[in-house]
Amino acid sequence: MNTPVHIPATSCRDTPILKERGQREVFCGLTGIIWLHRKMQDAFFLVVGSRTCAHLLQSAAGVMIFAEPRFGTAILEETDLAGLADANDELDREVGRLLSRRPDIKQLFLVGSCPSEVIKLDLARAAQRLTQIHAPHVRVLNYSGSGIETTFTQGEDACLASMVPVLPGTEARELLLVGALPDVVEDQAVGLLKKMGIGPIRVLPAPRSSDAPGVGPNTVFACLQPFLGDTAAALERRGARMISAPFPFGEEGTTLWLRAIAKEFGVDDATFEAVTAAPRARARTAIANASEHLRGKTIFFMPDSQLEIPLARFLTRECGMEAIEIGQPYIHKGLVGPDLDLIPAGPTISEGQDVDKQLDRVRAARPDLTVCGLGLANPLEAEGLTTKWAIELVFTPVHFYDQAGDLAGLFSRPLRRRALLKLEERA
Ligand code: SF4
Repeated sequence: MNTPVHIPATSCRDTPILKERGQREVFCGLTGIIWLHRKMQDAFFLVVGSRTCAHLLQSAAGVMIFAEPRFGTAILEETDLAGLADANDELDREVGRLLSRRPDIKQLFLVGSCPSEVIKLDLARAAQRLTQIHAPHVRVLNYSGSGIETTFTQGEDACLASMVPVLPGTEARELLLVGALPDVVEDQAVGLLKKMGIGPIRVLPAPRSSDAPGVGPNTVFACLQPFLGDTAAALERRGARMISAPFPFGEEGTTLWLRAIAKEFGVDDATFEAVTAAPRARARTAIANASEHLRGKTIFFMPDSQLEIPLARFLTRECGMEAIEIGQPYIHKGLVGPDLDLIPAGPTISEGQDVDKQLDRVRAARPDLTVCGLGLANPLEAEGLTTKWAIELVFTPVHFYDQAGDLAGLFSRPLRRRALLKLEERA
């Protein structure tokens, strides 16, 4: 437990943040439905939006086509948008039809979109009205996934934050893990904590509404993702206390995240070592193997997934990369402060985006690897730059020890591919 952590003398915590508020190139918060619907087995996400929103979901979630879907779109037609029809009546009818067809639905999320925002459809009031109609069988909640307001990972934050006010109260001292991870990764985390004797452990989101965790003054919670600022604030308003730590990416991040929780629960050093020594060693070996192509390479993060700062910490400290710029859609130091503390001062830290100016900085720096959204990757590749799609980092299991090597591999793959292409060109 006492493995020394190298803390840089001057870290990125104190680096002045370059704040940009220009045009940005990111997916909207509807994207979160793709992974949230897999975690919440009795929930349904009804996007109140346009055909564009329906297309986004359909193409992003193409894999779901053979399964019983747990999301859909209530299309706002032109008459709604022109204010000629009462969109609330149509919404009530649509929800009534859906719930009579699908008795398995226990939680229904009305998800706002750009069009519903533009016509100022009050989905909070609609959710209250529909809860009264369909209680106690179904609870109706609402949140916004609109591209006007949210980046793609903020959809999860908005969804979880909407659930917090209706979680039951409790006085129990419990650990709440917050964030939707693939089940296998969540099981690894819970398994490690339980081996240290930590518990009871609850998770948000729970797989079913009947398993919803309680929250109260004795709840301590740890976020699994760095984009859950609104959810953390909502939990704090219910009296819960956050355990602050670097995020569990890589061997070091995972160890420090576990260590902060272990400290909170009074786990002794010997127990911590006994539980973590073997997976830590495995993670170190896997990272060393996978990061061979990353050492000494430069990286530029454009703001997209909101994972940028913790990932930069992992890549610079554990994989030998050098960060030129670390851009995040927004910077919540209450969440990513412990990661910033560990990144030595040097890279530009930017918040928000002014895409043309940022592209100019990328072209000037010519980093070995640029992490960016899908829309920017192809033009940059055409200019001879190597890119990594940020969205893959959200769809791939990357947290905790057993995924640490895969996480490094996600970044080294495009560099290896580029090196192979160069060899072929020369041959
Ligand atoms: S919410 Fe807005 S950005 Fe997202 S798909 Fe719909 S129209 Fe497009």
